[in-house]
Amino acid sequence: MNENERPLNFVEKIIKEDLASGKVDAIRTRFPPEPNGYLHIGHAKSIWLNFGLAQTFGGKCNLRFDDTNPEKEDEEYVESIKADVKWLGYQWDGDVHFTSDYFDQLHAWAIELIKSDKAYVCDLNAEQMREYRGTLTEAGKNSPYRERSVEENIELFEKMRAGEFDEGACALRVKLDMAAPNMHLRDPVIYRIKKASHHQTGDKWCIYPSYDYAHGQGDAIEGVSHSVCTLEFEEHRPLYNWFIKNVPVPSTPHQYEFSRLNVNYTITSKRKLKQLVDEDHVDGWNDPRMPTISGMRRRGFTPKAIRDFCEMTGVTKVKGVVDVSMLEFAIREDLNANAPRAMCVLHPLKVVLTNYPEDKTETMTAAGHPQRDDFAERSLPFGREVWIDQDDFREEANKKYKRLVIGKRVRLRNAYVIEADEAIKDEAGNIIEVRARVIENTVGNDPEDGVKPKGVIHWVAAHDNVECEVRLYDRLFTDVAPDAGGKDFLESINPDSLEILNGCKVEAGIFANDPDTRYQFEREGYFIEDSKYSSAEKPVFNRVISLRDTWGKMDQG
Ligand code: ATP
Ligand code: MG
Repeated sequence: MNENERPLNFVEKIIKEDLASGKVDAIRTRFPPEPNGYLHIGHAKSIWLNFGLAQTFGGKCNLRFDDTNPEKEDEEYVESIKADVKWLGYQWDGDVHFTSDYFDQLHAWAIELIKSDKAYVCDLNAEQMREYRGTLTEAGKNSPYRERSVEENIELFEKMRAGEFDEGACALRVKLDMAAPNMHLRDPVIYRIKKASHHQTGDKWCIYPSYDYAHGQGDAIEGVSHSVCTLEFEEHRPLYNWFIKNVPVPSTPHQYEFSRLNVNYTITSKRKLKQLVDEDHVDGWNDPRMPTISGMRRRGFTPKAIRDFCEMTGVTKVKGVVDVSMLEFAIREDLNANAPRAMCVLHPLKVVLTNYPEDKTETMTAAGHPQRDDFAERSLPFGREVWIDQDDFREEANKKYKRLVIGKRVRLRNAYVIEADEAIKDEAGNIIEVRARVIENTVGNDPEDGVKPKGVIHWVAAHDNVECEVRLYDRLFTDVAPDAGGKDFLESINPDSLEILNGCKVEAGIFANDPDTRYQFEREGYFIEDSKYSSAEKPVFNRVISLRDTWGKMDQG
């Protein structure tokens, strides 16, 4: 983000004013994932926003794992989240933080709250607690345990901590207002018993703080100035502020909310993404069809494109759904400008150039990128036999078909103009080979007889290429809103979201490059080697994205 290049979003305006008025003198933000799954495109937005705000205003951004729920969390997720943040192009300030780093402090502050008669141990079970809580239209009732003495509460809380009670037997609640219109203020629970081992603290604790109690205090301990979260937390803000005021925290953070990123044809719930993985609907969290950051990385999306997309979607309080084609647009923009060009034939059909000597080969040269001279030129071997795509040949066709037709000419990109003479067929009538002729002297020149080629097609020399597998992806869901209104998203999984092509032929020169290089395979789209399945023996390429947005449009031949 660069505040000089575009209007400020509302969070940037707030920060600018806070700096100008002296309300704060330095900016610190944080990205606070719970390590209970892999990050997805929605988290990318939060990462882009929090790290971007810090960059824009010369501040710092922390990475804090909000790890208050040991049963669902795992070290595997901690590592993947760190890798994803870095891959997106960001570096957190100092060490990684964990809310669990503050468990001692949070526990001590809870005792302070008890001592000042602002917290009590409540023995209502979950169901009773719900009953006592009331509804949006009805006030709740005070818990019968609300008036326990400070001494009794101290003793009971100590017993909770020491593991003397079963899970669910009691909980620590703050004493606020059971009639508050904001339900979050009706004596919320701040500690519950969970006899679970924690990925960071092991078996040290059997009581764990609630998100609401831990989050703001974590912000304050870290000196976070602007705690930016999504709109669901707007109603939690009064509670956030109550804690900041009633706990002796070392600084005064403020919470600001923006609307979460929702993308059509896409699911952004960690729980549902986990279900896709656990039930083997996809090939792991980094399946190239997944909206996870690791999936998008394996697919070949670029960090820049994802950051650009986040920027395009804006930062507001308006709820909405963004069209996934906007993300695809950002990827095409970046790759069109930055991907080296290469040729790969996806559905090979052999062309034999009957007037080209059998023992002759030549080397053609081609631009690495049509608009950029900082890309090295490519050398393309050429010989009597070449592969072209099956779709680029027809025995007969009307004028709209600008490819190879018997009796007509086409240019092999960066090489000769050729003219087709004959189609060779197998017993079933399938075309298995085309016989054609090169037109002399046409490398870089029009034919001397004035009969111009109908179009330009890509090709690969038959005597020098690398055979590969190509994976074409389509949207994972066919429904525009796969999980809206409680719909079962499994029902709209697109059965054609992965198409595997074998025996494709790619120009050999590309294997001298870094395996992370994304290419434009001319006329076919953008591709990257698959980090999971590709090997020297059998290269596998993922199609990052097609060249044009053709989704939902009729095939226009
Ligand atoms: P859940 O597991 O319920 O899906 P979550 O997606 O909120 O949870 P967290 O790990 O708590 O996961 O999220 C970390 C941060 O990312 C939070 O600050 C959260 O607000 C933000 N975030 C999550 N989803 C989105 C989204 N779709 N758009 C913007 N920010 C998001
Ligand atoms: Mg969350």
